[in-house]
Amino acid sequence: MITLKNVFKDFRITQYYGWTPFALKMKKRYEETGKQLYKYGKHTGIDYGVIIGTELKSPINGIVVLDDDINDSGRGIAISICDFKQLVGCRFYHFSANIVDINFAITAGEIVGFSGKTAGKLTIGNTPHFHFELVRIDKTGRAIGLYNGAIDPFNTRLVRWVA
Ligand SMILES: [Zn+2]
Repeated sequence: MITLKNVFKDFRITQYYGWTPFALKMKKRYEETGKQLYKYGKHTGIDYGVIIGTELKSPINGIVVLDDDINDSGRGIAISICDFKQLVGCRFYHFSANIVDINFAITAGEIVGFSGKTAGKLTIGNTPHFHFELVRIDKTGRAIGLYNGAIDPFNTRLVRWVA
């Protein structure tokens, strides 16, 4: 069982994990354009609609392994934090800013960045939101399994959210 700190409980969900209608529409676009985002036809995380500048906290203890600004893929400002005890990673996309660097040690509940609107044009109307993704990793931090390791953060057989 993966344990996550319930740091997003006050936020409004705008897109759930899975084969959402939007993701399926985007898969068609992927097949036509080769854009990587939504290549599975599956939304691999949860979108939370929050105003730009909202403080965002990490739901896990971990190490920052990616601190990036990938404008081309639709991810925008992205970070990834790996929890090597639970062997899961948390990815955040579409920040306006982050306040971490590679190799920073993060404690669950610590602020890691601020929400933004840095999703590409292809994502859901590009209204202000951030994308949170939970992935299985191996001991080196590499994502393993289907869909780049992504699992449903609300799968109650796998994940437990605690205060
Ligand atoms: Zn998303």
